[in-house]
Amino acid sequence: MPKQTPLSKLKEMAHREHYECEDGFYACPKSESYYSVSETPKTECDCGADEHNAEVEKVFEEILVCMASDLVSMVSGKRSAEILSKTEKKVVAGFLDGKSHLEIAKELSEESGRSFTVHSVDNAFLRVRRKLRDK
Ligand SMILES: [Zn+2]
Repeated sequence: MPKQTPLSKLKEMAHREHYECEDGFYACPKSESYYSVSETPKTECDCGADEHNAEVEKVFEEILVCMASDLVSMVSGKRSAEILSKTEKKVVAGFLDGKSHLEIAKELSEESGRSFTVHSVDNAFLRVRRKLRDK
């Protein structure tokens, strides 16, 4: 579990749970209290929590990539878009989120469909460091 930052705390606070109801019939199918007599109980969220949380996740990721870009800009004096690849920005964003190299590698693999390892994340960090040094 990565260390909590003010930003990750904010994300946690923005997270919404599925709608629970004493009468499980009215609860979200993804909630604990969901109850159905149907032979084919619903499985999809119908309370909006999944959609909301996906949006929170997306905005959070955007904030981190912005932070990574700003950080690189400040250090290098260049616009980060000019010097960092998309992968390198994601790696710095993951670092700012307190993620391990393994976690970053897993996320990059899921997003891109390519296979990222801890080693490829290490290499991306080395490239970022070199780029910052050779400004
Ligand atoms: Zn729901």
